[in-house]
Amino acid sequence: MPSDKPLERTIYVGPFVHSKTFDELELCEDGAIGVDEKGKITFVDRHGTGVSNRPGWESAKVVRISGKGFFFPGFIGPDSHIHASQYPNLGIFGKSTLLDWLQTYTFPLEGSFSDLEKARKIYNRVVARTLANGTTTAAYYATIHVPATNLLADICQTRGQRAFVGRVCMNSTLSPDYYRDESAEQAIKASRECIEHVKKIDPANELISHIITPRFAPSCTKESLKMLGDLHRETGVPCQTHISENKNECELVKELYPESKSYAGVYDDAGLLTDKMILAHAVHLTQEEKELIRDRKSKISHCPASNTAITSGCCRVRELMDTGIDVGLGTDVSGGFSPSILEVTRQAIWVSRHIAMHEGDHVKLSTEEALYLATRGGAKVVGLEDKIGGFDVGKEFDAQMVRLDEVQDGDDELDDEDGPVDIFGNESFENTVAKWVYNGNHQNTVAVWVKGRLVHQTKKFAA
Ligand SMILES: [Zn+2]
Repeated sequence: MPSDKPLERTIYVGPFVHSKTFDELELCEDGAIGVDEKGKITFVDRHGTGVSNRPGWESAKVVRISGKGFFFPGFIGPDSHIHASQYPNLGIFGKSTLLDWLQTYTFPLEGSFSDLEKARKIYNRVVARTLANGTTTAAYYATIHVPATNLLADICQTRGQRAFVGRVCMNSTLSPDYYRDESAEQAIKASRECIEHVKKIDPANELISHIITPRFAPSCTKESLKMLGDLHRETGVPCQTHISENKNECELVKELYPESKSYAGVYDDAGLLTDKMILAHAVHLTQEEKELIRDRKSKISHCPASNTAITSGCCRVRELMDTGIDVGLGTDVSGGFSPSILEVTRQAIWVSRHIAMHEGDHVKLSTEEALYLATRGGAKVVGLEDKIGGFDVGKEFDAQMVRLDEVQDGDDELDDEDGPVDIFGNESFENTVAKWVYNGNHQNTVAVWVKGRLVHQTKKFAA
């Protein structure tokens, strides 16, 4: 757990990497980032000098990278799409696709979150594990249960993770009797209780926000979607849902909502398609829907690991970006098999390359572009682009220290007399970053800060 002691002025000294633009990283080999008592970045020095003699910073604490590594912004996938309640099902999907996957694996697990002790265990684990993977901001789906959803908000706050916590609304008969809202009215009442809870624990939304969460159109009714749209307009609380993930689902939405022009149109008709809406997946959108989403300034969370695991399809991220839509990355635990945004970054690159094999190289995402989606892109998706996503003066310090030397468990048989053999050697800084993206894992993330507060550290972290 992070300490609740007041923060000290701190200078983070060493190489740092962050996105400058969508396709360009800034690689600074000799940096110093000054962070004040409120966790805000006050200066970024690109020559590492002057650390000890900057006026007012003479007695600041110094956190230095020893060995090979760099500071990198915290991941925001925000994790822009993760079902905290599905964490115990990671890696379980068999041969299912979306609609049978929900009934077979997901609803039975989520339904069990009426047991608050079970929820406490799982949610503590999810938040600790995502922080350990460098995820400093997450947009969570909880379950329909008010006490467990509020508990997730409490746990995020205690552990110091920025989070959007959604109570899942689902009142249609697609969901089993044992796991659905009784009525549209009851769903709204329950969501209001969760909104009130967040107001109590974090009135200024410094770390925690509620997020209105209709599961997806087939789980709701026209009436409940409309009421959630009204609640969104009344409270200004952001919202999230799924869209156009799987072809059978798209057909089902057509049947259920014949009066709407399209799947995106269903949400638009309910008043939910606004600049504070995060739409997960968006694999099978028509061009008309993409333009509607762009015009409404709604955001998209791309969940490539999940889309491949439950064979939903390959999302055309380049097309979304070219249309002018903001895109971030989501793990979509547990449709996705990993809680790591680094893994999802790789998966986003792979999916784009699979599309490129049919459609040409222009659709490929580069390493730099995928890292942008994992940081600044995600920040835009959750509406926090002025606060987080990169090392800019005035932003809050959400960061991870990445270490690339001797952090992975040594395997005796492979170690030679000079110590563990590792892939990181004399390559250029740029190639070191590429090696991290394609070979790294949570063990390389040795420390994580949110708003200047240390929220995770491993034994290798030597501050
Ligand atoms: Zn999902």
